[in-house]
Amino acid sequence: MRIQGFNKTTLLDYPKHLASTIFIGGCNMRCPFCHNSSLVLHPEAVPAIPVDDVLSHLNKRKNVLDGVCITGGEPTLFADELTQLIKSIKDLGLKIKLDTNGTNPALLKNLVDNKLIDYIALDIKNSRENYGLSIGIKNYNTNKVNESVKYLLTSPIEYEFRTTIVKEHHTSRDILSIGQWIKGANSYYLQSYKDSEDIISPGLHSHSKDTLETFAQLLAPYINKVELRGVD
Ligand code: SF4
Repeated sequence: MRIQGFNKTTLLDYPKHLASTIFIGGCNMRCPFCHNSSLVLHPEAVPAIPVDDVLSHLNKRKNVLDGVCITGGEPTLFADELTQLIKSIKDLGLKIKLDTNGTNPALLKNLVDNKLIDYIALDIKNSRENYGLSIGIKNYNTNKVNESVKYLLTSPIEYEFRTTIVKEHHTSRDILSIGQWIKGANSYYLQSYKDSEDIISPGLHSHSKDTLETFAQLLAPYINKVELRGVD
């Protein structure tokens, strides 16, 4: 496992927390809208940051920070090293938020069971029927993601589901299907796609604010709290 990015202070990545963010290189998906393409496609080309440097900084700032967000790439690809890193951070008294694509439900359960994690943000890439379109892998089997979804719906951990909404990928039919899939969820965020320089497949577009609000209304019967993110 390689740490390939470290944002020392953020108020954006861990809701209601002053946090640092650790970026882990490598991913098992190829989402066309991914804005971390260098971490996903060429992780070896991005210099690694020594774990000890990160832990040393967190130790100095532990009285100021509330927690640490671990994101990627896909951190759960590296179960043992990730668990060790999380333990080291928890020993400093900091909370952990993990961003994941949900492909390692066993690790999520293990982290929750061992009280090593405080918040999970799980990406729902699309309806199960059109998952492959939004992760760049044809005929993708969503069973592992579904296992993570079902686990979070009944687990004690605080969590959110979220989807980056892309005009070319998401229709109202997909949104309804997602609502039925994650029915009973506490919170779900529709994140408007934003163009950036490090996109895997440039040329995608966002839906209008009106369309996103219509999507949110479609989800209301299924989910307690639905909010838009990144909408101007
Ligand atoms: S958006 Fe997340 S899951 Fe998709 S390719 Fe990028 S890092 Fe991987």
